[in-house]
Order: sequence, then C-alpha cells, then structure tokens
Amino acid sequence: MKNYYDIIIIGSGIAGLHTALKLPKDYSVLVLSKDYAWECNTFYAQGGVAVAKDEQDISLHVKDTLEAGAGHCDKNAVTILCKEGPQVIASFIKEGFEFDKDKDGNLLYTQEAAHSTNRILHAGGDATGRVIHHFLMQKLKFPILYNTQVTDLLIKEGVCYGVKVFHANKKFNLYAKKIVIASGGVGSLYEYHTNARTISADMHGICINHNITLRDMEMMQFHPTVFVKGNAVRKQLLSEALRGEGAKVVDEDGKRFLFEYDERGELSPRNIVSQAIFEYSLKSGKQVYLDLSSFEEQHFQERFPSIYFNMKNLGYTLPQDLIPISPAFHYAMGGIKTDFNGQVENVKDVYAVGEVASTGIHGANRLASNSLLEGFVFSQRVAKHIMQTLGKKDNINFEENGDVLIREGDKALKNELRDLMWKEAGIIRKRKNLEKALNRVEEMLELQTGKLIRLRLLTSAEIIKSALKRKESLGAHYIIGEDRV
Ligand SMILES: Cc1cc2nc3c(=O)[nH]c(=O)nc-3n(C[C@H](O)[C@H](O)[C@H](O)COP(=O)(O)OP(=O)(O)OC[C@H]3O[C@@H](n4cnc5c(N)ncnc54)[C@H](O)[C@@H]3O)c2cc1C
Repeated sequence: MKNYYDIIIIGSGIAGLHTALKLPKDYSVLVLSKDYAWECNTFYAQGGVAVAKDEQDISLHVKDTLEAGAGHCDKNAVTILCKEGPQVIASFIKEGFEFDKDKDGNLLYTQEAAHSTNRILHAGGDATGRVIHHFLMQKLKFPILYNTQVTDLLIKEGVCYGVKVFHANKKFNLYAKKIVIASGGVGSLYEYHTNARTISADMHGICINHNITLRDMEMMQFHPTVFVKGNAVRKQLLSEALRGEGAKVVDEDGKRFLFEYDERGELSPRNIVSQAIFEYSLKSGKQVYLDLSSFEEQHFQERFPSIYFNMKNLGYTLPQDLIPISPAFHYAMGGIKTDFNGQVENVKDVYAVGEVASTGIHGANRLASNSLLEGFVFSQRVAKHIMQTLGKKDNINFEENGDVLIREGDKALKNELRDLMWKEAGIIRKRKNLEKALNRVEEMLELQTGKLIRLRLLTSAEIIKSALKRKESLGAHYIIGEDRV
C-alpha cells in the first residue's frame, strides 16, 4: 500500500462517501473507515432527507430551519443548505439513486416535526440511510481501508500533512495534500444513544489537542422517541416520521401530556418533545409510550419495514403494541468550526464535513432530516474547493511514534464518563452538576490513560465547558435552577 495521496477522507458515512463521489477519478484518494464501512450513523438513518420541493419552498425551508435552531443558526449557512439542496439531490437522482415514489412515479414526500410542509424524501420506506449508503459504496471509485482508526493529525507550523493510523495492530503514518474529516458525531460519550458504535468523538479530541476551533459544543440533540430498554449499546430509534404521520405520545393512562408543554403536541420541535418527556416522567414517575394505533397494519409494515422488523425481534408487534420510550442522545449540532467550504480554523489543508462539522446550520436545535442534506450539500462544496486549490505540496515526514492507545482501566473510565455525561450534561442541566462533572473529567484527564479515552475526555470537557458558558436555556441546551426537579 502506498502512503502518499492527494486526499485522505476520514469516514465512510454520507459526508465522506459523497465527497469521494464528487472528486475526479484521476485523483489519488484514500477513504479510511474505523470499522466496516456501514458502521456509521448514515447507515442507520431512517426518516429521510429534507429538501425544498420547489422554488417557493426554499424560503419556507430556510424559515423552518431558523425557527427550529432557536435564533442561533448562521442564516447564510442555512440559505446555502436550502438553496443548493434541490440541485444536489437532483444530481444524486441523475446518478441513478431512487427515492420512494408513488405508483405514478412521483416522488413521495413525507412530513416530520417542525417542518411546515411535506418535504422529506425517503428510500426503502424507513431505510433511507441504508439505501443511500449502499448506493454510495457501489459508486465508490477509490480504495477504502477498513478497521483503520485515525489517532492523530500530522501538523507542523499550521499545515496538516496527513494522519496517524492504527490498522491491523500496526501504527503508521499516511500522508496527503488535503485531509477531509468526515468522522461523524459524539454518540458514544453518552450512556443512552442511537448512534453507531464507531461514533466516539476521537477527531473532536484530536482537534482540541491541535488548537483547531470547535463551536456550539453545548448544543447536543436528544431524540424524543427511543426504545432504550434493550441491551444493545445503540438504542432503537423510532423515527420522527412516525409522529409526522400520526403516532401519539401518551403516558400509562393514555394521556397526551405533550400539549401541556407546547400547543403543537407531537409535532413540536425535537428539543421540546425530549425535554417534556424527560421532565414529565421524572415528575410523574409514569412510563411514557409511543402509540401507533392510528396506523393501518399493512400500511405500517410497508412504510416502516425496518422499525416493524427490529421491534418484532424485541418482542413488540406493531402497530398494535404500545412501545415504552425515552429520549436518548442523537445528534451533535456543534462540532469542528468550518467556513462554507468546509475549511477548519487555524490549520491549513484540513476540512471537516457532515455531523463532525459546525457550519452554523443547525443552531441550537437541528430540524429533522436536515443532516443528511447537510452531508450532501457541504461535501459537494468541500470537493469543489479541493479541486480549485489542489496543487503541489512538499511533504514532511513525521516520526512514527507509538502512542499508547488503550491502558488497563480505560474501560471503567469510559463507562463512568458515559454515565456522567448522560446524568449531568444531558437533557436537563444544572450549573452545580455541570461543575461537578467538569471537575471529575479534569481529574480523569490527570490519570495515566490510553490516548483513545483521553480524546473522549477532551471532547466531554469541551461540551461541559460550553454548557457552563451558556447560562440561559436555548434550544437543546436546557439549563434549570438548582431548586427544580
Ligand atoms: C438512528 C439514526 C437515525 C437518523 N435518521 C436521520 C434521518 O432520517 N435524516 C437525517 O437527515 N439524519 C438522520 N440522522 C442523522 C444522520 O444520519 C447523521 O447526522 C449523518 O448520517 C452523519 O453522516 P456523517 O457522514 O457525517 O457521519 P457518519 O455517517 O456517522 O460516518 C462517520 C464515519 O467516520 C468514521 N470514523 C469515526 N471516527 C474515526 C476515526 N477516528 N478514524 C477513522 N474513521 C472514523 C466512522 O467509522 C464512520 O465511517 C440519524 C442518525 C441516527 C443515529
């Protein structure tokens, strides 16, 4: 295997693979994937891709995104997303991708919470992410190295020359003119989450080590309707589209209590529904359920085949059975700060794209199904910028030092951290608890640990510090007085 490329892409989700799709085949490109290619959040995405249906809908899509983001979005970023979305999706369809259509061949659009119109395209019913991922893998024209974890960026005097990796029990360096970080969010930092097991915030930690700016790290989204009872690390998500199409949230007495929190009830933005469910079950001590009884059985099986099948394996017959639900960590709005071409701050030749990046689109709360669209739109921009700027670059060789990645005792720290983040830096935050959590994380950072847990700790500290800096609640960041529940 050669060790020098034009471009190295870290991550095989939509952001990484769509960047690859948009690069010319005569470039030398290497895609790195921590695990199997499909072990990423893209693969598990259910609901769909939000995209303006026509010219008039673009401004409405912008408005909905800004409103969900609670006034914290970058309006220019949102405008780019909503304006360029239809073109990128049209180009994807032209490549041969098939979204679900009605019997007359028209694209089917569905509704999701906080969208003022039906504008969500989907594929394979509720398997949108899996179908997109499969298609992108089929189209991949560059080599991909599986089971390869990036453990550092090779940076000298503000320029990045490549990455350090761990692959097949070996540690070595790979060099490139441009490095694209498309490594996803931070799910594994939390006890309960919906994310793939590979999503553990390593690249965020690496960026903190190198002084690359992160932004909005307090803005962590919790999905309201997750089946958290199973033993699996990744908890089963019950798509937003279920509520969009008629599912109700009820307590054990059948009461639709969400209306006490917001007049939009089940169709309120995610943060409101998550906070309401969490607070209501704490206060009332009652179990909360998703009630799917408004669905007709055959239609449900056809429209939501993955949820039907996964829940059947867990002992639930849908749509008849009530499903016990809880909110769980789902999506990182914050991330590595980039400009609109995906370039990071402080270090040259590094891009960040997809969930790992913070372009300012999502503000304090992501509008449902805007993240796959972000993956499409901003990866196209990254690819375009690379094509415009790729030139000659002198390489520097870096020492192949062997950081200790894992030490005995790291697993216990990892579990403690997940519990701490869930309880103290989760859906409902209190200043004192955040301070306590930060002290403990800083104590852990003093211990002699492996590098991988250290990267998780650095990212966690950044989330907590950002949460402490924002004294008032905003969107997904919900901070309450010490005297409240
Ligand atoms: C259950 C679920 C349902 C969702 N449903 C929707 C939906 O319907 N619509 C929507 O818009 N969004 C949805 N989302 C969110 C959306 O799927 C993600 O935000 C998006 O897919 C992220 O894409 P990505 O390419 O940035 O990251 P990912 O798809 O998560 O890919 C990250 C990649 O980086 C690799 N990686 C990570 N760290 C390293 C490392 N150190 N070294 C090497 N490789 C590394 C991983 O192995 C993986 O290949 C959902 C998310 C989940 C979890």
